[in-house]
Amino acid sequence: MHELGVVFHIIDDLKVVAEENKIEKIDKVTVELGEVSTVIPHFLSDCWKWAAIKHPLLKDTELFIETIPAITYCEECKKEYGTINHGRICPFCGSERTYLQQGNEFLIKEIEVTK
Ligand SMILES: [Zn+2]
Repeated sequence: MHELGVVFHIIDDLKVVAEENKIEKIDKVTVELGEVSTVIPHFLSDCWKWAAIKHPLLKDTELFIETIPAITYCEECKKEYGTINHGRICPFCGSERTYLQQGNEFLIKEIEVTK
């Protein structure tokens, strides 16, 4: 499962941050997930529950997932449109010269720690 790899990646990142900042326990992690990224939020949460419990640093850490809407930009008519509804072809001019502007990202946005 692809999401498990993503979770391991997050955990590795968090361990580095925790070590650098001498954090012993993380309470809350917020990640940003693009609408058309290949990660499925539901699976990500499940994998998180399974993997995080194995690390003292993350034993009771809550994972919050924020969705970033997918937006495509058309080079032909210079307009933006929602990727989910229209896909690769511009709904304004029918061009295929479009590219995804945002919505494919996956990043750790915020870490919360209480001392
Ligand atoms: Zn267009």
